[in-house]
This record gives sequence, C-alpha cells and structure tokens, in this order.
Amino acid sequence: MGRVTLKIYNKGFNYSQDGPGNRLVYHLQGCNFRCRWCSNPESMEASGECREYSVEELLKEAQSCVPMFFDGGGVTLTGGEPTMQFDEIKEFLSFLRKSGIHTAIENNGSHPRLRELFDVIDFLIMDVKHFDEEQHRFWTGVSNKNTVENLKIICETGRQALIRIPLINGVNNDAEGFVRLFNSFNCSGVYFEILPYHEFGRDKWTVPYEIENGFVESRDIKNFEKLFRENGLRIIKT
Ligand code: SF4
Repeated sequence: MGRVTLKIYNKGFNYSQDGPGNRLVYHLQGCNFRCRWCSNPESMEASGECREYSVEELLKEAQSCVPMFFDGGGVTLTGGEPTMQFDEIKEFLSFLRKSGIHTAIENNGSHPRLRELFDVIDFLIMDVKHFDEEQHRFWTGVSNKNTVENLKIICETGRQALIRIPLINGVNNDAEGFVRLFNSFNCSGVYFEILPYHEFGRDKWTVPYEIENGFVESRDIKNFEKLFRENGLRIIKT
C-alpha cells in the first residue's frame, strides 16, 4: 500500500452533494474529457498542479475523520476524472471498504473497466453529458460509447446508481433524446438528477470560454423532469 500514490488537487468536506451525508471529498487530478463548460478546467491536465498522497496517508486521514461521517457519510472521489488513476483508486477504495468507510465516486462513465470498481463502491454517481455520440464528441472531445456501455452494464446488473445530466442550453437541452437513450435499457434501479448549467468555473479558463447563453429556464428543467417521470425514469434532487 505504501508505494501507491494518488494525485489530488483539492480536498474538503461537503454535505450530501456528492453522495449521502457528510463526506470527505477528494478531487483527483487529470481528465480525459474536455467539456467546454467544465467548472474545474485546472483539473484537466494530468500534469497540472496537485499533490501526491500515498494510499496509506489517505487511509489514515479518512480513518481519523470517521466521527465526521455523520448521516451515512464517508469518502467521495471526484475530479477531474477519478478513473484516470484507476488502479490507484481501486486500491484506495478497497482499503476504505475494509475499514468500514462508506465509499462514493463521481465519474464520467468513460472507463472501460468501471465495472471492476462496483464491489468497492457503495454509491456510484455517473454523468451522461449527451445522448448523441457525435454531439458528445463535439462538446467533450470524446465519444459517449463507453459511457453508454457502462450505463447498460449498470442497468443489466441492477446496481444502484445516480446518473447526472448537466443541462446546458444549446448543448443538450433535448429531454426526448435522453429518454430515448435511457429507455433502451431497463433503468429501474437508477435515479436521475438534472443539474442546471452554471458558470462557476468560467473565470478559471485560460483559453476563451466557448459556451454562450448556456443557462436553462426553470420551465426547461421542469419539462425535462416531467418527461422523465412520464417515461418511468426516477428523478431525485440531491
Ligand atoms: S468530465 Fe468533468 S472534469 Fe472532465 S472536463 Fe468534463 S466537466 Fe471537466
């Protein structure tokens, strides 16, 4: 365990935003997507500013925080894209699990081995950014094929998951397209959450920010959620 390290650019507690209860959230450096609206552009480059921690150090830190994990809390790994450090997080999550600490991961669904993490994740959060492969590639730089395949596996295995859609005007504001995709699987074990566009990261971009008029109206969100419910897709707000 001593030699394995994780690159982390930020860490801190939040309540119920990235999994249940009070959570210690680690933001991992590096992402394979280039979403044009990313609110953490500093996290994209694997070589970006961050600190390396050994799994041993992180485990000790998490164990010392156990009294803080109230209301079903625990540890969440997010990014960047945590699965970019796949073997390292697998080891860390396994040790957390063995210590009885609740584990969650927020990821973009693109890792072809995501399924290997299922046994060490209590709460799986996965983004689906666009239902259409070409549009997904245009807006994120990467195909949605792996994400769709992982969604299919999640649905087939009946495992719990929270699927998040960042809803952005002019990018993916098409509820019918998402419903078509989701209803091509049996999504009965899955919850969906619509996250309206924000610009918290706009000023952090060092190259021109390309999203214009990305904000969605509250009626768009309501219509989205209504269509999902009408089609048997469960919506929650965290
Ligand atoms: S997947 Fe997340 S971290 Fe990666 S570029 Fe997209 S929004 Fe940013």
